Amino acid sequence: MERRAEIGVVGAGILGLAHAYAAARRGRRVVVWERDWRASGASVRNFGLLWPIGQPHGPMYQMALRSRAAWIEVLNDARLPYWPDGSLHVVYRQDEAVVAREFAELAPALGYECEWLSAKETLARSPAVRPEGLLGGLWNRTEVTVDPRVTLAALPAYLDERFGVEVRFGTAVRQIDPPVVEVGTERWKVDQVIVCSGADFESLYPQTYAGAGLTRVKLQMLRTTAQPDGWRMGPALASGLTLSFYPAFQVCTTLPALRQRIREETPEYERWGIHGLVSQTAAGELTLGDSHEYGLAVDIFNREEIDQLILHYICGFLRAPKWEIAQRWYGVYAKHPEKPYLSLIPEPRVRIVTSPGGAGMTLSFAVAEDTMRELGV
Ligand SMILES: Cc1cc2nc3c(=O)[nH]c(=O)nc-3n(C[C@H](O)[C@H](O)[C@H](O)COP(=O)(O)OP(=O)(O)OC[C@H]3O[C@@H](n4cnc5c(N)ncnc54)[C@H](O)[C@@H]3O)c2cc1C
Repeated sequence: MERRAEIGVVGAGILGLAHAYAAARRGRRVVVWERDWRASGASVRNFGLLWPIGQPHGPMYQMALRSRAAWIEVLNDARLPYWPDGSLHVVYRQDEAVVAREFAELAPALGYECEWLSAKETLARSPAVRPEGLLGGLWNRTEVTVDPRVTLAALPAYLDERFGVEVRFGTAVRQIDPPVVEVGTERWKVDQVIVCSGADFESLYPQTYAGAGLTRVKLQMLRTTAQPDGWRMGPALASGLTLSFYPAFQVCTTLPALRQRIREETPEYERWGIHGLVSQTAAGELTLGDSHEYGLAVDIFNREEIDQLILHYICGFLRAPKWEIAQRWYGVYAKHPEKPYLSLIPEPRVRIVTSPGGAGMTLSFAVAEDTMRELGV
């Protein structure tokens, strides 16, 4: 039997669900096909950080803010938990403080809502910051934490109940020949297909992907058990290493010296692309990470050395009532070396939207809005 929808979305990761939401909100009849029985890609493996501060000033930062606003609308409407507690980059070295202070000075003119905090003010913002040797923190109010596993599990039901979006799990899209889409054992007819298949470059339109210049990035992550007595850390925490990682901070003239010191003093952190980030889940666990290994062939085995480096670094700035590691995993995302994400047209009526890199949670809802605008939906 042939089934019918107006928009067919491949993948129930955050990018697929954001596109389904954007199309359904415009009154379109939408179906989402997800090959796994529940979303298990990058979108459930991440920190859940909506992180505008990571974006370079200008259009990308504005895009992150647009996405944040759309996220909050969805989270409120779906009655999902989120923590608009902002972020703190905590610093313990002079060269880190110099970069953070320079950024705080430049920030207002660039559109960021940033503030340099003294050590005392930083400690007042978060019970999770280690006081010994703390020089201060870069405080930004725009960051929001969601619980990725809770959110990605709940959004399909919300989309169904609120907009009649059909999310079909356990259905791999095998072939797209518009308007026909072969899905598992079914045949669908749709007006437009939007492919949000994450880091799978081989199954659909392999030639398009092969010429797109994408690679994969593997990240190792850890999670503690739940913290006792409802303890919450407040703002998500980042650190000196993070200052050297995100493009936002590249405007700082003092950054090269920090990078040089990190390279010379701790080459292992640079080698594995490690930087210390901490977020907290709905149940109170702390999510710790991460590392960055680049390449199409992903090593399915984690390196204990990387986990130890992450833990060692995070122990330098995080204090928490309970320090028991409960889970370890890795995630993989697709990344383009220069572009913030790709929107490709492999054939008429098909759009591939992929590779928002390490900012897919942050940007997804604005990316989806832009896709709808381009498609005239
Ligand atoms: C460890 C880690 C931490 C991160 N932290 C953050 C963060 O804190 N903030 C942030 O902004 N970003 C973060 N990111 C990046 C973010 O998670 C990704 O950019 C985003 O999740 C990508 O979403 P996606 O929907 O494109 O991919 P995915 O979530 O991987 O979803 C793709 C889906 O498509 C499905 N699929 C593939 N092929 C088919 C097919 N043929 N038929 C049907 N279904 C198919 C897959 O099964 C999968 O469920 C992180 C990423 C990782 C890995």
